[in-house]
Amino acid sequence: MPIQSPAFKLICRSCGWTKLFPPMGDVRFPCQVPQHCPTCGSENLKQVQPNFAEKMIANVLKKR
Ligand SMILES: [Zn+2]
Repeated sequence: MPIQSPAFKLICRSCGWTKLFPPMGDVRFPCQVPQHCPTCGSENLKQVQPNFAEKMIANVLKKR
């Protein structure tokens, strides 16, 4: 049974780097979510709920 994970945003608390991740359902990329910040290498990452506009963007990303 596939697990639908909602869109989320990853924020680096160290340098302020952010990345938006589209909802992952039928096609999942396990290595898509980094454990370290690609900019500063910090593990101090936080997952947050995207706001409405960001959810729209995430849906566009999903369709691509
Ligand atoms: Zn960082």
